[in-house]
Amino acid sequence: MRIPLVDLHSMHQELSGELDEAWGGVRTSGQFIGGPAVERFEEEWAAYCGTKHCVGVSSGTAALELTLAALGIKAGDEVIVPANTFFATATAVVSTGATPVFADVDDATLLLTAEGVRQQLTRRTAAVIVVHLYGQPANMTAINKVAAEAGIVVIEDAAQAHGATWEGQRAGGLSRAGCFSFYPSKNLGAFGDAGAVVTNDAALSAKIRSLGNLGRRGGDPYRHDDIAGNDRLDALQAAILSAKLKRLDAWNAARRRAVQRYAEGLSGLPLRLVAEDPDARGVYHLMIVRTAEREALQRALAEEGVSTGIHYPIPCHRQTPFLAAATPRLRVTEAAAQEILSLPMFPHLSEAQIDRVVQALHRACEASAAKVEAGTI
Ligand SMILES: *Cc1c(COP(=O)(O)O)cnc(C)c1O
Repeated sequence: MRIPLVDLHSMHQELSGELDEAWGGVRTSGQFIGGPAVERFEEEWAAYCGTKHCVGVSSGTAALELTLAALGIKAGDEVIVPANTFFATATAVVSTGATPVFADVDDATLLLTAEGVRQQLTRRTAAVIVVHLYGQPANMTAINKVAAEAGIVVIEDAAQAHGATWEGQRAGGLSRAGCFSFYPSKNLGAFGDAGAVVTNDAALSAKIRSLGNLGRRGGDPYRHDDIAGNDRLDALQAAILSAKLKRLDAWNAARRRAVQRYAEGLSGLPLRLVAEDPDARGVYHLMIVRTAEREALQRALAEEGVSTGIHYPIPCHRQTPFLAAATPRLRVTEAAAQEILSLPMFPHLSEAQIDRVVQALHRACEASAAKVEAGTI
């Protein structure tokens, strides 16, 4: 039996009655754009994140783009982003006309740090996007402090961190605005593209809503006050998200239990796990191990039917559109990109499945140690 990297089927199986009810409700309501299902999810998601407002949008990328635009980030501005992130974090900055400035990450957590931000500050820096990568919250206390001193805005890319906490407060609610993706495989995933922005700033929330809804600011659908596109969350996705949100905490807890079992099983092997800060409570969107023998381990696992991934093999500053920017070497990010391997991780991953992955890794590590000893590598 193959072990997939992510298995959405068992989540949807667990919830099949509620999911049928959710889309049946939207079908009979006849309200497919906006309306009660969207309003309900926005209220629930704001409450969950501990913020006053939530604007549902069409994707995580749209959440980032709309937030930057609503903050007035523009050409000539620089926005600091970690180089170790999904491409969308950086491309959203470019969409607003601003320039992403890539920062290196911490070697233990692989996350942006206050020091990393400080090193990239210039007179042009307008904002920093902190990415809670792999579901692990960055040190927001330290980053918010540096940003306040520098007079720049802090935004969170919490697309992998639904429900993660820093000092007991949920990701997304730890800065001016938190951007979420509900891409199907995220910890809270829709049945298509979807996203949201959460914030305590009423004016910012209204501006984001207008920029995502053809510039409509008031209740009049024929009045347009901003030049803006269409980046709305639709009602079907909102209804699915409300149904799945009820399970999010239980599913995140299951992910943490899986990490615990992985960590115990893998101790003693020449693999490094990503560290969790004592003030952080991660939600393990991904289960990362670091190894100098990544290709060999990945191949050995594939032979035993275990799917793995790499998040991400090419750091952002090394992607084609950013090569011209000639970012200086980012030592930790570049080294990590050669070592990171994502193991199967999803809430319904069974103990037996984890043990099979662990045993496969033990065999693979022994085999590569034997090769080193024999001088064949
Ligand atoms: C998934 C993701 C995004 C983009 O979200 P989409 O909904 O796919 O547009 C942005 N940043 C990070 C860190 C992500 O993981």
